[in-house]
Formats: sequence, structure tokens, C-alpha cells
Amino acid sequence: MRADFDNSYARLPEHFYARLDPTPVASPALVALNEPLARELRIDPGSLSAEVIAGNVVPEGAEPLAQLYAGHQFGNWAGQLGDGRAILLGEVIDAQGNRRDIQLKGAGRTPFSRGGDGRAWLGPVLREYVVSEAMHALGLPTTRALAAAATGETVMRERPLPGAVLARVAASHIRVGTFQAFVARDDIEALQTLTAHALARHYPEAQGALGLLTSVIAAQARLVAGWMSVGFIHGVMNTDNMTISGETIDYGPCAFMDAYHGATVFSSIDRMGRYAYQNQPDMAIWNLAQLASALVPLIDPDQDRAVEIATEALNGFGDAFRAEWLRRFRAKIGLVREEEGDEALIVGLLQRMSTSRADFTNTFRALANTGYAGHLVDDAGAWESWTPDWQARLAREPGDTGATMRAANPAIIPRNHRVEEMIEAAVAGDYAPFHRLLAALATPYDDGPDTADYARAPRPEERVQQTFCGT
Ligand code: AMP
Ligand code: MG
Ligand code: MG
Repeated sequence: MRADFDNSYARLPEHFYARLDPTPVASPALVALNEPLARELRIDPGSLSAEVIAGNVVPEGAEPLAQLYAGHQFGNWAGQLGDGRAILLGEVIDAQGNRRDIQLKGAGRTPFSRGGDGRAWLGPVLREYVVSEAMHALGLPTTRALAAAATGETVMRERPLPGAVLARVAASHIRVGTFQAFVARDDIEALQTLTAHALARHYPEAQGALGLLTSVIAAQARLVAGWMSVGFIHGVMNTDNMTISGETIDYGPCAFMDAYHGATVFSSIDRMGRYAYQNQPDMAIWNLAQLASALVPLIDPDQDRAVEIATEALNGFGDAFRAEWLRRFRAKIGLVREEEGDEALIVGLLQRMSTSRADFTNTFRALANTGYAGHLVDDAGAWESWTPDWQARLAREPGDTGATMRAANPAIIPRNHRVEEMIEAAVAGDYAPFHRLLAALATPYDDGPDTADYARAPRPEERVQQTFCGT
């Protein structure tokens, strides 16, 4: 692999990470390679060999390490975590001048592995590949998939499964939990160093711990509103899975909703529904409050005053989220201008969709394509009671409302049953469904040859009820 590494994280103090190489595997084979992304990173795609992606060869200039972090999982303090099966190769500066991490996920045990085997199996690797690339194509900030390799080794889960490694790209892998790791150690100096590093990297225009906190709050408000607008349920919004950059990270038990309902949960381990669709903004605030407490010692020497300042910053999340949510949902019903009654109009539609468990994606796309979604929303005249107000409001909207809606309402999303179907085929050796799904999701707002097929909502027997971390 030929890349111009410049590894700023490896220049941070030694107790921020553990230096170690990936553990070589039996017989690496490339299963997917993202050539456009490689070029964006100024990496020659031809140099991304199976040996590099699987971790058997460490490229020149890389300084492999596993990052330390900690976190709250499902609201409980989990203590020290860290990359248990991921190894950061290093950083490159992309064609736009942005610093990007290249990390191998599933690359072997590290000092942070606890009981884990350090590996990943093919299913979650391909799921993350497809869903993260779909998220990017939908226009939302996310980690990216650069390549995937099969290891030729078996990993034991509920049954023996084929092993794989994902090469993941991120603006950085710094998380809320990275800050928490140093709070837990009372290491103020490390907190200061990490704050300066994160500011320089992600928010160079902001200043100090408060500047960082305010910037992360704004980025996460935008991100979560974006998730809501495409029916995405992250599923495991623990503080170790929330980035400082504002990118979506950790596609474990995530899912896009088919039938709309606010309380929808897919993750098998989320028994209380903590991370249900409609709870995501509140859970983001909960996580950001953990970041705020971590930064309090740096915000003001007077700690009472620091808490006040941090609380005020946290209170900004609500307005930022609401503004972005409204902007996105306005566009979903064709509106760019702002009027007083817009929110009621949007909520009115969502309530009708919820009552009839209308397909989230297809309802909005039908509005965009035909202006009619009564066949999806209809519940004893529900559509007829909503549409006159919408029509009247649309009439006051200048510009091409159809174009606004088509740009805000994807025709396709990675539906759970298609993701599962793709994984099943790949495990049996057939990668065609993976490549076909990935290709269709590269342009989710356009109607292509496979759109009608992937747009179809699951039949009752196809419906995926639960997703598993699966790891
Ligand atoms: P997650 O729930 O995916 O956010 O992972 C939580 C923690 O468990 C992280 O620190 C991971 O690095 C670690 N982990 C997950 N799977 C494994 C594995 N197979 N081996 C070692 N560590 C793992
Ligand atoms: Mg994680
Ligand atoms: Mg995970």
C-alpha cells in the first residue's frame, strides 16, 4: 500500500494507546475495494492488497496502534474499553486537505480485548461496508469503508463463521469515551492534550474546552436530525460509539426502519428500548452531558461556574436539533420556506403514518414522485384529512417542490431483509448480492434499474424483527 502517512495520534503521549501490529491471518483474500475512496485518500487503489487489508503486511509509514477509550454502555459506566479488535494504521491527508484515519477492524487481539478474540466475522463486516457507504451516499456524515478482506480463518460465534477484516476510514476515531478514559484516571494533563488535538483536527475555528463542547453538540444535533430524517436507528448509542467529529460510527445492531413507529427498536440487547428511534435525540444529550462533565475541569477554574457554562451549552442541543429536524422534514414534504404551521403539518403526517405503520421511506418517496401516498397512509380517511392542508401549503411554496422532495426522500435505503439476504449469500460464497446492493445504494435518490426491487417493503415473512451485535 502506497500512502503518505502522517500519524498525529501516534505523536500523542504513549499512554493514549498501545502500539502493536495486526495479527497475521491464514489466507487473506480481498472481497471489496472502494477505488473512488482510495483515490480521494490519494492512495493508489492497486496498492491496497489483501495482505495489507487483512493485516499481514504493515505498509510503509504506518504506525499501528490500538486506542484507549472508556464509556457508558446502556447508561452504565463500563470503565476502560479501548480498541479490542481494531488497529489504527495511521492517518493520511486526503485530496481536500482533510486528515483521515485508516483503521483495520477485526485485526486481532490487543491489550484492550478483555475476553474477546479480536476478530470480526464476514457478516458484520459486509453490513458495515454496505450501510456506512449508504449513509455517505444519503449525504450524512459517517465513517467509510475502504476495503474488506476475508481472512481464511474461522471465528467462533454461535457457530463457526468465516473471518474478515474491514478497513475503515474516519475523520478520527476520537469518541466521547476517549475523554472519559482520562477523567476516570484523573489525568487533567491528558484531557488538555486531547482537547487541543481534537480542536485542531475537527474544529480549528473553535477555542478551548467550551469551544470543543459547543462544536460537538452542534455536530451531533445535525447528525441525529439527519438520522431521524432517513429512519435510521443506530441501536447502540453508547458513549464509546459517539464521535467527536460528528460522524456516525459503529454499525453493530443498527437498522433503517421499514414500518414507521417512534418506539421502534431492533437491537436484541436493547431490552428497555433505550435507543429506540424516537429516543435518539435524548440519548445524544445524555452522551453529550458525559462529554460536558469530562470537560468541566477545563472550562473554568471555578467549578460551579464551569458546570453552569457547560449546562448552558448542553441546553443548546434542543434548539439546534429542532432547527435541523424541521429543515429536513420540511424538505421531505416539499417545503423550503418557513411558516408557523409547518411543524404541525409534519407531525400530522407522521402521526397518520404511525397509526397505519406506513413504510417510512416509501411514503415520503411517493409524495415526491406522485404527490399521493394515501395507499400507504390510509387509515379510515387519514390521508384525506391531511392532504388539503398540505396542498394549500405547497401552493404557497415557490420553486420546484417535487425536486425538493426527491432530493430529501431517498428511493432506497439498506433494508434489513436485503442486508441479511446479502450476508447469507456471501457466507455461501456468492458476493453478487453484496455488490449489487452496494451499487444501487451509491445513488439512493435516483431511480435506477434496481430501485423498484430494493424499494419494496418486506413482506410479513421477510420482516427482520431483531438485529444482533453479531460482531
Ligand atoms: P461495541 O459494542 O461494538 O461498541 O464494542 C464495545 C467494546 O468491545 C469495544 O471496546 C470493542 O473493541 C470491544 N470488542 C467488540 N468485539 C470484540 C472482539 N471480538 N474482540 C475483542 N474486543 C471486542
Ligand atoms: Mg464500538
Ligand atoms: Mg461495534
